[in-house]
Amino acid sequence: MVSHFDTDHCGGLLYLLEKIKVKNVIIGKQFENSENLEKFKEIIKDKKINVRVVEAGDKISIEKDTYFDVFWPDIKNEIQENSINNNALVCKLNYRDFSILFTGDIEEEAEKVLVSKYKGKNDLKSKVLKVAHHGSNSSSIQEFLELIKPKIALIGVGENNKYGHPGEEVIERLKNIGSKIYRTDEMGEIEVTINNAKDIKINITKNSYIKK
Ligand SMILES: [Zn+2]
Repeated sequence: MVSHFDTDHCGGLLYLLEKIKVKNVIIGKQFENSENLEKFKEIIKDKKINVRVVEAGDKISIEKDTYFDVFWPDIKNEIQENSINNNALVCKLNYRDFSILFTGDIEEEAEKVLVSKYKGKNDLKSKVLKVAHHGSNSSSIQEFLELIKPKIALIGVGENNKYGHPGEEVIERLKNIGSKIYRTDEMGEIEVTINNAKDIKINITKNSYIKK
């Protein structure tokens, strides 16, 4: 699954598609071309890899009791501003009572549309949230977080990155809605394991990390 075609989200995949056997790739509907997308198209053609292009309203079945709901991109609500980020794939993995929302790098423009579509509904509500756009202050608006209400918030972010991610305001907003925050800059790789609807186990690779 590829959220969008910025290098920090697909660079590793382009390499892997060349090196290992991949049967299926899922991407969101694409509105803008890029060097990465061109390269992706070349590889999948060359390697005859099956690609499923999804958009809002689609459901992806993985196996019994396990499926994704796709919320974004939405052809009826294509966003022009920061187009590649704002039309990234947003989908929720469901397994019994467990759910995790993946948000790619969407920013407030996309979040506002999602909020207006799902206000008052439980569609976006998720146990775990992959926080949008590395915890940038330009994403994770309050109303969006309130609809998701994650118990656990995961932030994928480089240590001492030049963008200042994650933003302090986003950290505050997540704390205020009661989310426990896990971030890769401080904890290393974060692995989420579920064995049934009730148990969520989180492993981190930097075991020396002590919560400040
Ligand atoms: Zn990114």
